Amino acid sequence: MNTEEYVRSWSAMMLEVVTGMAEWRQQHPKATLREIETEMDLRWARVRARMAEDLALASTAADWEKAPIDQQPLCSNCGTGLKREGGKKKRHLKTHGGQEIVLERHYGVCPNCGGGSFPPG
Ligand SMILES: [Zn+2]
Repeated sequence: MNTEEYVRSWSAMMLEVVTGMAEWRQQHPKATLREIETEMDLRWARVRARMAEDLALASTAADWEKAPIDQQPLCSNCGTGLKREGGKKKRHLKTHGGQEIVLERHYGVCPNCGGGSFPPG
């Protein structure tokens, strides 16, 4: 996706939160401030998670074969350049808001010490 497509996608998600909250409020006319905040936090946390996922995958580290040689990921153990192994692997992470995000990225193996890691980013 290019920048414009990301902005369009995120804007649509934000609009969904805003309209969704307005509808939720109508269905919950007696909701307390705390309940409103809890509902809002949950919805924004999902948007945050999707945005974080998109932003993380947009980094050059996510596709390191295209990155310049001085930006290739290094082994955290010995500093040797990692070699890409196989296809993309899924990595499950949790955001601050407790939402799960899945990053699909290449897994690297160190040709020197055999250590493996996902590149940062
Ligand atoms: Zn190593």
